Amino acid sequence: MSSYISTVKGNIDNSQLLFCHSHEHLFIRDGQSAKLNPSLRIDDFEKTIAELNLYKSVGGNSIVDAQPIGCGRIAEWLLQASELTGVNIIASTGFHKLMFYPKDHWIHTIDAGTLAEVYVNEIENGMYIDADSVFPSVQIDAKAGVIKVAADADGINDKNKNPFIAASIASKLTGTPILCHTEMGKKSLELIEFFTSKGIDSNSIILCHVDRTMDNSELILEVARLGVYLEFDTIARHKYHSDSDEVQLISKLVEKGFEDQLLLGLDTTRDRLKSYGGSIGLDYVQNIFLPLLKQLGINEGIYNKFMIANPANAFCKKIKE
Ligand SMILES: [Zn+2]
Repeated sequence: MSSYISTVKGNIDNSQLLFCHSHEHLFIRDGQSAKLNPSLRIDDFEKTIAELNLYKSVGGNSIVDAQPIGCGRIAEWLLQASELTGVNIIASTGFHKLMFYPKDHWIHTIDAGTLAEVYVNEIENGMYIDADSVFPSVQIDAKAGVIKVAADADGINDKNKNPFIAASIASKLTGTPILCHTEMGKKSLELIEFFTSKGIDSNSIILCHVDRTMDNSELILEVARLGVYLEFDTIARHKYHSDSDEVQLISKLVEKGFEDQLLLGLDTTRDRLKSYGGSIGLDYVQNIFLPLLKQLGINEGIYNKFMIANPANAFCKKIKE
């Protein structure tokens, strides 16, 4: 098995990833997402640079940007931001929930085979920078390192089936891990079944937002038993639940022996990035949440896995040599 991770600046050995938030949004261009939720516009280059420098000042070394092609991703800025700050950025190809694209967007009509070619091209040759409104044609020399996919509350349906198929073809061909948005963990088992039926190993599957509700713990344990990575990215989102509830859920998984499968992130929006005037900031996990984990009984050896070893394993290419 290879051990490299594809970042916007090129491949790194997975031992170089170090402290990593596994799900953030560094830039989102003004567009359909912001029309639905103004906090989904993150488009000030200097402010994001300041946020990344804050992250770096507390030991942040790497970050996963979860905004995919054609949906407000600003690939050229991800590259420039990584070059300027030295923070490794793993960028996403793939697709978001289809509500985040205008009605006339190419994603709604493209066939799975052609879409898979777009994803593979972004992974092997470089990301497209013109895909929000037109079919992608202009690429830069910065590759995508993860394939984002997004399920609706009913999982995979007639509307999003093609992009799901395309993502699995691209993952299988390139060994690139899949970062799967779930609606509060709904349909997690069906999603895993879909990918594994396409020949994708469970260690190439990362499920996001499984912690958005506290009522899911039995389902989360069942999902963990299948060997996928689970992303806890509802930290400091107090409209859903408190951080101590979050820690209790994490403790439950650790007690059952799943500490090697947990990843953390803030799933930031404009409203929660300090440099944009928001309340949380990319220093929150290191400064507030990890000390809370420690205080509530999770030792440093374990939470360092969430921040360092687990992302290094989750986001490396799964190519059998
Ligand atoms: Zn997200």
